[in-house]
Amino acid sequence: MKHRIKLWLHGVLVPALLVTLSLASRGASFTPYEEIPSPKDAPKVIDPGPPGVGVPSDAIQLFDGLDLSKWKSGKDGGEAKWIVKDGYAEVNGTGDVVTKDSFGDCQLHIEWAAPAEVKGEGQGRGNSGVYFQGRYEVQVLDSYNNPNYYHGQAGGISKQLAPLVNACGKPGAWQSYDIIFHAPRFDEEGKLAKAATFTVLHNGVLIQDHVEVLGTTDHAATPKYTAHPLKQPLRLQDHGNPVRYRNIWIRPLNEKQFVERQPHVQAAQATPAKH
Ligand code: MG
Repeated sequence: MKHRIKLWLHGVLVPALLVTLSLASRGASFTPYEEIPSPKDAPKVIDPGPPGVGVPSDAIQLFDGLDLSKWKSGKDGGEAKWIVKDGYAEVNGTGDVVTKDSFGDCQLHIEWAAPAEVKGEGQGRGNSGVYFQGRYEVQVLDSYNNPNYYHGQAGGISKQLAPLVNACGKPGAWQSYDIIFHAPRFDEEGKLAKAATFTVLHNGVLIQDHVEVLGTTDHAATPKYTAHPLKQPLRLQDHGNPVRYRNIWIRPLNEKQFVERQPHVQAAQATPAKH
């Protein structure tokens, strides 16, 4: 009899309790492994290039160090007039430059260097910026031994979100940003349906972890969203400091493909939860 109780305890009660606890800790149902289907298409094979310096074979090279033919002046729409030499482009006071093409959700790689000769302080030292959709800035700033307000330093989403850490290199050193951006979505009435998000790695270090953008990043205005098309040009800022850029490439992301890679998400969307 004792043996049967012991069996019941270990064979039925304890596993049931564990399952219950596991469900409670998840706070929701889960998909059993045998119900997670494999996507029907194999992941596309691409050549990522050598680590650190390569350009993935499916990326669009926006600047290869030779010319700014993929860019135009943000001032007058004419030719981009930044200095191009020795494999880099340098801000020279002629105004922002914007891409001729427009982009929505994307992965961007960009390398930059603040001036080797340190001049100015705070926002006046090595300031530039990568504006996604011409509106949402990931700050470029010489934040090496340059105390300033935290959400305005290198890798900050300007005046909104400070980076998790300060991974800034020395003035003059080449640095990289790898950024995953998801564009905001607006409903038919032009109201915000989904905020934009950023994930940013600065010199390979995670500094923004899928953060939501509050809206435009003007330094002295309340962030706001105004409806705009899904795809918009990328803009690099001329803040009056001779910041340099090189090796800029972008990979447009495809939301449809993202969903196709996750059939269980598709299944969940097709079968609304019963509440
Ligand atoms: Mg800036």
